[in-house]
Amino acid sequence: MADCLFCSIIAGDLPSDRVGENEVAVAFRDINPRAPVHVLVVPRRHLTSAHELSDDDGDELAAVFSLARQVAEAEGTADGYRVTTNIGRGGGQMVDHLHLHVLGGRQLGHIDSLTGDDG
Ligand code: AMP
Ligand code: ZN
Repeated sequence: MADCLFCSIIAGDLPSDRVGENEVAVAFRDINPRAPVHVLVVPRRHLTSAHELSDDDGDELAAVFSLARQVAEAEGTADGYRVTTNIGRGGGQMVDHLHLHVLGGRQLGHIDSLTGDDG
């Protein structure tokens, strides 16, 4: 999609620190990491957010999560990590191309830290 940051990164038109890929998705390091491991797993197909997924997207979604698992293993954080996706401005989404944040490499907070005043 034109004028989409992550589509441009996937196409190789903009640089990224790519750490993995499969036929469905690409993984690259977040430019502003919030944890020692902070990788974005991004489907090659442009979808604005997870809210656009349909009942037919199961295979694609499984491949996206498979890449997230591979990233966690390769980064040495398979024993504990978080996969999250933000939806819409109210949900904290800034880049309008569906992506998973894979966060790990340190002790992560309880879910309350995501929903309370400190989240
Ligand atoms: P979200 O707020 O869920 O849309 O997350 C977007 C993420 O993209 C943020 O964590 C940003 O730090 C990250 N980001 C923005 N620009 C780039 C870029 N050029 N390369 C890698 N990560 C980026
Ligand atoms: Zn896109």
